[in-house]
Amino acid sequence: MGIEKVIIIGGGPAGVAAALHLQERNQISCTVYETRSEPTTLGGAIGIPSNGLRLLDRMGLSDAMMKKGTETSILNLHSLKGNEMGRMDMVSWSRQQTGFGYLRIRRTDLMDVFLNAARKVGVPIHFNKRLTRVEEKNDQVTVFFSDGTSDTGDFVLGCDGIHSSVRKLYVDPDCTPQYSGISNVFSLVPTSELSPVASSLDALNATLTSDGMFGISPATTARDVIYWFFSREIAMPNTGDSRDGWEERGKEEVDRLKTTFIDLLGEYDSLWVNMLRDVVHKTDVVKFYPIFKVPPGRPWHKGRCLIIGDAAHAMPPHASQGVSMALEDVFLFSKLLCHHSQHLDAPDHQRLDDLLQSYESKRKARTEQMLKTAERNGDIRKKKTPLRLRVNELALSWGLWAYGAIGLDKMGIGQKALAYDIEEEQF
Ligand SMILES: Cc1cc2nc3c(=O)[nH]c(=O)nc-3n(C[C@H](O)[C@H](O)[C@H](O)COP(=O)(O)OP(=O)(O)OC[C@H]3O[C@@H](n4cnc5c(N)ncnc54)[C@H](O)[C@@H]3O)c2cc1C
Repeated sequence: MGIEKVIIIGGGPAGVAAALHLQERNQISCTVYETRSEPTTLGGAIGIPSNGLRLLDRMGLSDAMMKKGTETSILNLHSLKGNEMGRMDMVSWSRQQTGFGYLRIRRTDLMDVFLNAARKVGVPIHFNKRLTRVEEKNDQVTVFFSDGTSDTGDFVLGCDGIHSSVRKLYVDPDCTPQYSGISNVFSLVPTSELSPVASSLDALNATLTSDGMFGISPATTARDVIYWFFSREIAMPNTGDSRDGWEERGKEEVDRLKTTFIDLLGEYDSLWVNMLRDVVHKTDVVKFYPIFKVPPGRPWHKGRCLIIGDAAHAMPPHASQGVSMALEDVFLFSKLLCHHSQHLDAPDHQRLDDLLQSYESKRKARTEQMLKTAERNGDIRKKKTPLRLRVNELALSWGLWAYGAIGLDKMGIGQKALAYDIEEEQF
């Protein structure tokens, strides 16, 4: 029997993109169930490189995203003293290969575009739906919610993020997300309140300190809002990996952020460092996010249920690939369903399981490669002595210079993964 109805758990980027794409490309009816009472996810701004932008374009959404976000493909490295130590275009080569650069967009704007598109094509999205059970019988899956309601479909997609209930309740109950050792604090600040240096930013700017990395970038087309983050090693709460422990740790971090950061900047006095002090000083609302990852090598499907996006492969955000990886999942799953519907002669459960195995092995190879990049990028955020910091600054500065001077950028070194096209994968 073909798959005609897909139930989607989770209304974040993966869930809404999946509903849109499966409904448009596969003509499959999709219903989204979201646990929150309204369509909001954690704030901040998301970087989307060439591979993800190309897929948004194929979904007909890239123009709407471009109208809200801003192209920020240049990475500028600043020393603690405030000097610019190097710069690179992160997508110089992949832009030529794909036609798409690098977008920075507020998460709320990204979700607005997805949700407006879903509304237009009539994808039903139900809020306040907390999943409590998944049951599979006779090629049908039923999901049950805490309000006593349920729904039955031919397939369930778990798009419910790093602490996925679909994974916990059904696909892989033994899997426990692991704390990466690094946490982020971040905020969005209107530039009207900041110095002219902050309002004229047009790139992603990074400053290394001996205890973490500070990044700052415009986040809107008008460049009237900037996004900043401070990413550093933070120990697990003394009470272990509990929700209360993390809430307490987050509160401590946010409370002492201003003094921690100002201390790390030391006595330096330059336009750049003064701007960083000003930005942090004038920030009212700071969010804290401990970064977890799903351990690699775990199963992603069971019967007629598959987890995608962060539920399957959440990774540190230091490679800016979370949303793009979720989009690639969606496109490959859509292709899997096309293949499935064209070969309805073999025994159904066998055929579907083979396809899902093949899906998993393709996506695992790709996401594990991204995980390695993200972890490598994360190392720079770890604590170091002032001497080590200086060595790192010099090495990075030299690396950025060599990247352009030797022509590594023209060979696509470090950018090949951004020109990868998921639609070239075959079943
Ligand atoms: C600080 C930070 C910075 C980041 N920066 C970037 C970046 O620059 N670029 C990038 O691409 N990615 C970035 N990411 C990662 C990116 O946010 C994620 O990869 C992306 O949001 C994954 O989308 P998702 O839909 O799989 O999961 P989520 O965004 O987590 O969405 C899951 C949805 O499921 C819902 N849900 C959860 N449990 C249930 C349940 N039981 N029943 C129903 N619904 C449920 C949640 O409420 C949520 O709406 C960053 C992440 C963080 C934390």
